[in-house]
Amino acid sequence: MRVIRYTLQLVITFILIVLSAPAFAVEQTEQLKMLEAKLRKMLGNGVLPIIDVEFHYGSKIDIEDVKGRMNDNGVGITWLGTNEKLGSSESLRLSTLYPEYFVPTTVHGDGKLWHSGDKFFLDNLAIDVKSGKYLAMGEFEARHYVSSTNNRDIHTPVDSPAMQTVFGLSSETGIPFLIHHEAEDSLLPELERMLVKYPKAVVVWCHVGRNRNFNTWRKFKSAAAVKEYLKKYPNLYFDLVASRPGSKFEPTGQIDAIMYDFVMLKTILLPEWKELFEEFPDRFLIGTDINTGRFSKYDNTISTFRTVILDSLRKETAEKIAFKNAWKLMTRQKWKE
Ligand SMILES: [Zn+2]
Repeated sequence: MRVIRYTLQLVITFILIVLSAPAFAVEQTEQLKMLEAKLRKMLGNGVLPIIDVEFHYGSKIDIEDVKGRMNDNGVGITWLGTNEKLGSSESLRLSTLYPEYFVPTTVHGDGKLWHSGDKFFLDNLAIDVKSGKYLAMGEFEARHYVSSTNNRDIHTPVDSPAMQTVFGLSSETGIPFLIHHEAEDSLLPELERMLVKYPKAVVVWCHVGRNRNFNTWRKFKSAAAVKEYLKKYPNLYFDLVASRPGSKFEPTGQIDAIMYDFVMLKTILLPEWKELFEEFPDRFLIGTDINTGRFSKYDNTISTFRTVILDSLRKETAEKIAFKNAWKLMTRQKWKE
């Protein structure tokens, strides 16, 4: 009797999965087709499309304004990460409303629930990621300094239980996630332990090309450290620092973005960074890091990425960093030439 009941349960579960999955899979396939067509159209019009993998969406920014900025700046797709208050479902809702703009992305780990390791928050994140409805995860903060737009001076270690959940979910599903971790020497082992422990996790370490304190960030003060990590950890990607060239990190008074130089009143990409991007063209992505407080900087941020970085690279490399790498991470398929 028990065997029959068990078999019956299995059959019912199977029918439910079959009934629910295809409808959803078709929708997602349709959206990806639409997005691919959009990017190809942009290319046809001579615009290098950008996929913005790091956007911090709060309800205070009008979604029409976001679409407007994207249109004006040749940003074809945005991974629309939401804050804790809005939750992942808001990204899904907006992506359903505007499938030609936004990729459903889970909530960012940047609030009280995340940093306190809230069980409800983590359980919901797991449900969202495993639902198959989301193509990417948000940015999860490990060590985070106070910034120009927030005052979080906090450290949720990279090997904390909360972060283990995120690495585990990414390993299980192949869905990429972003991590914010200030690159102090003493904070590197906790990250390296996790990269070794979860070789299948798809990890995007945010804001590469940044150094906020030469005394404590001795390793990550040049492109050499990035190169070493790329060689050591095949599952590691980086999004590029979005700070304005020359802008200072206030607490130390140090220039934040170290990949630039100023020559004859012009901002240039330093040769060692240019060489790094050319040597590892598949491992870098564009993230604007735009949030409510920085929304007015959208145009400038994209303009710097385009004129200082992408324009100085080989066409193939620029295309990969601008959109092909992000496309591959969000679809698990290479962009078809
Ligand atoms: Zn960040």
